[in-house]
Amino acid sequence: MILPKSNRLTTEQLAEVTAIVTEFGCKIQPIVGAVRTIYAIVGDEREELMINRLEGLAYIDRIDRIQSPFKLMDKRSDLASHRITLGGVTLGEQLLVIAGACTIDPKNPNYFYETAAAVKEAGAHVLRGGVWKPRTNPYAFQGDVKSLDILLEASRRTGLPVDTEVMEEAHIPLALDAGVHTLQVGARNALNYSLLRAIGRAVAERDACVLLKRSIHMGTINEFISAAEYIAAFGNPNIILCPRGTSPALDGYRNHPDESITPLLKEKTWAPVVVDPSHSVGKASYVAAAALAAVAYGADGLCIEAHVSPSHGIGDDPKQALTPDMLAKTIAQAKQIWALRRSE
Ligand code: PEP
Ligand code: MN
Repeated sequence: MILPKSNRLTTEQLAEVTAIVTEFGCKIQPIVGAVRTIYAIVGDEREELMINRLEGLAYIDRIDRIQSPFKLMDKRSDLASHRITLGGVTLGEQLLVIAGACTIDPKNPNYFYETAAAVKEAGAHVLRGGVWKPRTNPYAFQGDVKSLDILLEASRRTGLPVDTEVMEEAHIPLALDAGVHTLQVGARNALNYSLLRAIGRAVAERDACVLLKRSIHMGTINEFISAAEYIAAFGNPNIILCPRGTSPALDGYRNHPDESITPLLKEKTWAPVVVDPSHSVGKASYVAAAALAAVAYGADGLCIEAHVSPSHGIGDDPKQALTPDMLAKTIAQAKQIWALRRSE
């Protein structure tokens, strides 16, 4: 829908607008009101180039979209009935829990093996462990490809599928060929469209899954769902949205907690939402409350950092990892809230 700045377009302006939409196979239908006339675009108004050209005209106030910009991730798309099953859990039918260390320590693999067994015992369905790490400080530990073997060994020992972050294209085949089931796109890369395309292309060939974190710079809901659309466009709809707090941080927290985004996402997309309370609040003692709030807001699952001995962990673990006891309690309480919501 085209809304002009003035009450109606002049004959010359209407001719110019009509010429543009005609190039894209659309037509213009004026809707004449008592005071203002607005102009419907009849045809597929999702054509970005057409919208950009119309928005660039000085006499156009704005273009209001009636159709969703997401062809695949939209709640009304044919994919809306698609169900993702991960770690034996069909999302939407049971609360999914992904848990494990922020970062695998390649020098002390036993911590990760013990953590893997402990998170399974606590009730997690998927094991997370960082192999390659995005670190703010270039001199901080950046991860190590050797940790991939540790991750997969922990998967064999526990029978849990694993999730790890891929930071660049070269990591994708390494992770998938090793047997990683869920590729995580981190908050720093969620706006890296070439990486999203490469992931979409790679997972389309397999039954893999993508956990897409929300970038700290994604102000709008549409930006988040559009990033998922980049991946889905290649044919694999196993995409889970993962809010993890945004920037600037709420004073005292690591980020600005965004658990409340879930109902807004669910108004627009069918994609399941698995909230990461660990990076959102950034401190172990606050994680449980954020996790429970996330489930109260309608999250389909949680992604929580946990470690058998957080003070011996690396990366974020010393600050924000839950101990196995804390994790077990959080999962039990989260399941109660989940059940309460389901009984509404
Ligand atoms: C992580 O999961 O350890 C991580 C680095 O997360 P994020 O990309 O959300 O910061
Ligand atoms: Mn982390």
